[in-house]
Amino acid sequence: MRELHNMYVDGRWSAPVERSVLELSDPATGRPSGHVALGGVADVDRAVTAARRAFPAFGATTTAERVDLLEAVGAEYARRAEDMAQAVTAELGSPLALSRSLHVPSGQSQFHHAAQALRDLDLVERRGRTWIRREPIGVCAMITPWNYPALQPAGKVASALAAGCTIVLKPAQLTPYSAVLLAEILEAAGAPAGVFNLVLARGSVIGDTLNAHPQIDMISFTGSGPVAVGVVAAAAPTAKRVVTELGGKSPQIVLPDADLDTAVHTAVLYALGNSGQTCGAASRTLVPRERLDEFLTALTTAVAGLKVGDPRAEDTFMGPVISADQWDTIQDYIHQGIDEGARLITGGPGKPELPDALTGGHFVKPTVFADVTNDMTIAREEIFGPVMSVIAYDSVEDAISIANDSPYGLCGYVTGTDVRQARTVAEKMRTGYVLINDADFDFNTSWGGYKQSGNGREWADFGIGEYLETKSIVGVDT
Ligand code: NAD
Repeated sequence: MRELHNMYVDGRWSAPVERSVLELSDPATGRPSGHVALGGVADVDRAVTAARRAFPAFGATTTAERVDLLEAVGAEYARRAEDMAQAVTAELGSPLALSRSLHVPSGQSQFHHAAQALRDLDLVERRGRTWIRREPIGVCAMITPWNYPALQPAGKVASALAAGCTIVLKPAQLTPYSAVLLAEILEAAGAPAGVFNLVLARGSVIGDTLNAHPQIDMISFTGSGPVAVGVVAAAAPTAKRVVTELGGKSPQIVLPDADLDTAVHTAVLYALGNSGQTCGAASRTLVPRERLDEFLTALTTAVAGLKVGDPRAEDTFMGPVISADQWDTIQDYIHQGIDEGARLITGGPGKPELPDALTGGHFVKPTVFADVTNDMTIAREEIFGPVMSVIAYDSVEDAISIANDSPYGLCGYVTGTDVRQARTVAEKMRTGYVLINDADFDFNTSWGGYKQSGNGREWADFGIGEYLETKSIVGVDT
């Protein structure tokens, strides 16, 4: 059992002022995994006060000093990598192999990429008699979701530290194990007191105070659209910058000349990996009508070969989803797909057959629907579970128009043998990130959405830019 009784505020571990205790359970068994003390409004105030007090000195540090800090955090993160992998698996239920190969490296690498980007950034530029300076915006609140609990806080924290901002992090209450570990890493790496503060709390309890706080200069929010709307509205009276990173309904376009194995591999990895709980999940698969049968046959075979089960077994591809609520939501969508006339190819309602020890876990059958049309609920709404919608198309132009016919615009995937054509198709997609064939995911570039997938950009120099103000000083000769 993990017992977390303290928050990290002003360089010290202390019990929350307004304390309530949340019991967390293991998503794979439903049995208790630990307790976390959550705080309230008074804890937000003391964290913001500490961050405000630390800002003048930290905001005035040199880029070289901040590069050193980022590298020290990255090195400490590497030292705690296995602890982080265990924490993510305990709270999220992701297979340990995935925690080690994706969750942890994606979080750790953020500090190295931010250090590298900061080394290369010119924060002062001269144009004739005008000097242009890019300065840290100030105290930043970070609100993060549970689905990538290592990456999400790390991306924001690394960018803000690089810019010279001070931080109040409020992670999702379901994933505090990794957040506390991140605070330990920052403490061990030598982040000055007050530069990084961790508040563990329910969004519904502290959200209004945090969003409207006059001493917070910027909010970086990653989560769902409906919650983001409330955050933006509550922040409006103080005119603070609100950067949003929201949901998606990302398309994979399988081009007519696509290699079948690559197409199926992409579909399985990006639609079903992390149990489909991925903002950029490839949840709509667009397949040429003339290749539909061969694609569905190969996809069904591939899905049948996936191991669903114990996240701690080395060969598990898919663990549970995070909670009973999430399981219920996904079941509702599966029923809706059936009711609206989609053809269930594999998976479906209920839990997969698993050993007794896992019967209390929140396992979902990897589910594939065919004959989906783009107006069905399962093609329009983010399910956030391992449910794929396969949509047939008649021409590449038709595929692009189906792909773009979505309120979201986070991610896109294009699979095709002619890479020049794949790139042309990628250029026509209204999304912030497009992956061609089985390219490795790149965390050293920009990440963010078009349309209702949010207005921000994260990672590398693009992430740092969100935490900077631009100042012009006009009339200086030297
Ligand atoms: P959520 O919106 O329910 O919660 C996100 C965070 O907001 C949590 O920390 C929560 O406690 C907090 N919160 C809740 N109410 C609040 C309030 N009134 N004021 C301030 N904060 C409040 O989202 P979730 O269920 O944790 O995460 C899933 C969503 O996140 C999905 O839509 C997913 O697509 C999205 N997501 C997007 C990205 C991206 O980069 N675009 C990445 C990961 C997840």
